[in-house]
Amino acid sequence: MSLFDIKDKVALITGGNGGIGLGMAEGLARAGAHVMIAGRNRAKSEAAAATLAKLGGKTGVVEVAVQDPSSCSAMVATTIAQFGRLDILVNNAGINIRKQPEQYSPAEWREVLGVNLDGAFFSSQAAYPALQAAGGGKIINIGSMMSLFGTSFSPAYSASKGGIVQMTRSLATAWAKNNIQVNAILPGWIDTDLTRNARTEVTGLHDRVLTRTPAARWGTPGDFAGIAVFLASPASNFVTGAAIPVDGGWSIQG
Ligand code: NDP
Repeated sequence: MSLFDIKDKVALITGGNGGIGLGMAEGLARAGAHVMIAGRNRAKSEAAAATLAKLGGKTGVVEVAVQDPSSCSAMVATTIAQFGRLDILVNNAGINIRKQPEQYSPAEWREVLGVNLDGAFFSSQAAYPALQAAGGGKIINIGSMMSLFGTSFSPAYSASKGGIVQMTRSLATAWAKNNIQVNAILPGWIDTDLTRNARTEVTGLHDRVLTRTPAARWGTPGDFAGIAVFLASPASNFVTGAAIPVDGGWSIQG
């Protein structure tokens, strides 16, 4: 078997209908996996699935609200019903509300934590029996540079993404016995719907990213195809509990 062989493996990607999620979905589809796209917006998910279908492999679409445990269970059940198994879960769905901490309402705090952190946990719990049944599998969680650093304008987001790293380590520790590897990717600044507003809402951000990133550019969704294939494939079978920056060097710039 090739180190990077994921042919006929089944991958489920929350938030896979755009941005970084779609970049990873395209990488996995090109490497031969069948990909289930899970998101809130069905039309957007169907458009993404149509793009993936051209790359080979089968595709499917499922609606999910990841903050709701029963919706996560239904998402996994739909995947098994359509593809017969599950090998790879990518917890990528995420949101941000940019405000100073003193301006946050309790509902806003819960909303961000609910999608970004609860969602990844509930989806992992829902997927666990299927990954066990497959004889092992891969969970890929999406953190952030804010898993490492604080910011004045994203307290809930930073808390959720810090939590993602510790949750990754905990699931990796617990489920190693089942041959399930759990890792996190920490993206730098990537040009997607999520950050398009940040460029206008956070003064000077665009230029600061260019100056601080050694690669001297914003990342693109396509930059996540390779790391997704690595973490989904046998090449990473002894890598677990890791948090890997994919940031053009942002986090190592002194
Ligand atoms: P996008 O806004 O393009 O993607 C976010 C995705 O999450 C969408 O597909 C959206 O689906 C989905 N989503 C949001 N809320 C829910 C929910 N309640 N239930 C299910 N799905 C939901 O942003 P990115 O591609 O940039 O973000 C992807 C991940 O990468 C996030 O976790 C984000 O925090 C992280 N990240 C992004 C960075 C960046 O610079 N862009 C940097 C660091 C981390 P739908 O459209 O159907 O609502």
